This record gives sequence, structure tokens and C-alpha cells, in this order.
Amino acid sequence: ATPTALLVGTGRGAQLGVLIKGPEVLESTRRVDTVLLDKTGTVTTGQMSLVEVAGHPETLRLAAAVEAGSEHPIARAIVAAAGELPEVEGFASQQGIGVQGRVDGRDVVVGRASAMPGPVPADLAAVVERAQQAGQTAVLVAVDGAVTGVCVVADTVKPTSAAAIARLRELGLAPVLLTGDNAGAAAAVARSVGLDPDRGEVVAGVLPAGKVDVVRELQAQGRVVAMVGDGVNDAPALAQADLGLAMGSGTDVAIEASDLTLVRADLDAAVDAVRLSRRTLAVIK
Ligand code: ADP
Ligand code: MG
Repeated sequence: ATPTALLVGTGRGAQLGVLIKGPEVLESTRRVDTVLLDKTGTVTTGQMSLVEVAGHPETLRLAAAVEAGSEHPIARAIVAAAGELPEVEGFASQQGIGVQGRVDGRDVVVGRASAMPGPVPADLAAVVERAQQAGQTAVLVAVDGAVTGVCVVADTVKPTSAAAIARLRELGLAPVLLTGDNAGAAAAVARSVGLDPDRGEVVAGVLPAGKVDVVRELQAQGRVVAMVGDGVNDAPALAQADLGLAMGSGTDVAIEASDLTLVRADLDAAVDAVRLSRRTLAVIK
């Protein structure tokens, strides 16, 4: 490829709202056959809101107090729904798992089931199950070693996601939803944007460190992988991917790890970027 033609492609990219780190990036999109899509903040808006609280009456207050120390969209939703918050001591956060701290002298843990210090009572498990079937995210709350509550948050699929995924297929690319969220919620969101969980188009329950392993595994199978993401937890996978695309609305770490930044924070821009690079390279050949 001649540098001039590539620079033309780069300029056109800027017009489309795609910021390209260097002209050479366009080359690596040529052979991409698989596109991994982060769920929260990429396929969905990532602006979550609290839709349900179940269990002990203090669940929301205690959960929100601890979540005040987290930047996660789940945390923001819980904090926004609570009133004035008590002090927290010993706050700790585990990326992709949950948060903990001491509130009013009690040990509070908020997060996924694997973060809980004990079993989930049947009534709360039923709330979790129902929420997940609806594509919502349920986080559990434990106080002093016992699981006593659950907070359910809901996200919204971006209106452009389904059409963009259909366009990816038209370009001959295989779309796959990649998320740390549980399989039930992931499957519901996947179906709503035209992805089939039964045909391997969803990889769920992935820990932040695991996203990069999914990229590596696909690459080991000979796939050429593009990854679209926005979160801190996506950064290693964005860097490992043959082509990393960050949502412009995303975290700085994600943007730094990526080859392309999508100024318009929707998947349409990702499809445009792939099409643009293919056209640019076709012109050069
Ligand atoms: P995604 O891949 O969809 O962006 P994450 O990897 O950030 O999701 O989080 C995966 C899961 O970890 C969440 O669905 C939730 O169960 C749990 N989790 C992560 N951060 C928090 C938090 N601050 N509070 C409660 N739960 C959390
Ligand atoms: Mg995300």
C-alpha cells in the first residue's frame, strides 16, 4: 500500500467520525473475519438504572454506600437511586466481580454470585433468575457473611446495534458478544440484536482478565479478530486483537489500547471503519 492512498483513507475516516492511530492500521483490518463486541457500553448504552431491590430493607442503602467508591455503570445506577449515604471504611474493588467495605460496622459485599461469602437464599435466587431472563443484571448484596439482598439494574440496547450487526454479517464478518455479565442476561440482549447464543455468538461470564484469552484462543484457531469495547476491562483484549476499536465515549485506557476510536459511540461507526479500510485497500491494489 502506498502511504498516500492510506493517508487519504485516514482523512476520510476522520470525516466518518473514525479516528485512526496511524495509516498502517487500515492494513490490519483487511483480513478481519471475526468481530468481538463488548456488551455494556458498546452494544448497550451502558447507562444503567435501578429497576428492583429485593431482600433486607437496608439492601439499597448499604449497597449504595459501598458502590459510591466504584465507577462501574452498575455502581452509578445503585448510587443514583439511593439517598444520603453512610461512611465506608476499607473499600475494595475487584474488577468484573464486585466491591466491598465496612458500613456502620458491618461487612458489606456487592457483586456477582462468585463474590458472595455464602449461599444465595431461594427467594433471592428467584429474583436473580427472573431478572436475567429479562436481560437485566442482578447483583447480590451480603452483610456480615450472609446474602441478604439483590439489586437489579437494567441497561438499554442502542437503537443502531441490531442494524449494525446485520451489516457486519453482510460484510462476511462473524459477530460475537463478549461480556462479563451472566449467560442469561447476555443471551437476552444477544437475541434482541440478532445474535444467536445457540450458535456460539455469545461468550458470557468472562472475567476482565479472560477477555484477552478469548481473543488469543480465536487467534490460535486462525481467526483474525477485531474487538469493539469501551471499558477498562476491555483494554487488554483491545490491545491483543488484530484490530482494536474503542467507543469514543469509553475510558481513556480503552482508547489508548485501540487502533481506532469511534467518535460516534455506536456500532455503525465500527462497520463504516471496516468498509472504509477495505475500500481504501481496494483502491491501492
Ligand atoms: P461487562 O463485560 O458487561 O462490561 P464487567 O466485566 O464490568 O461487565 O462486570 C461483570 C460482572 O461483575 C457484572 O455483571 C457484575 O455482576 C459484577 N460487577 C462488576 N463490577 C461491579 C460493581 N461495581 N458492583 C457490583 N457488581 C459488579
Ligand atoms: Mg463495556
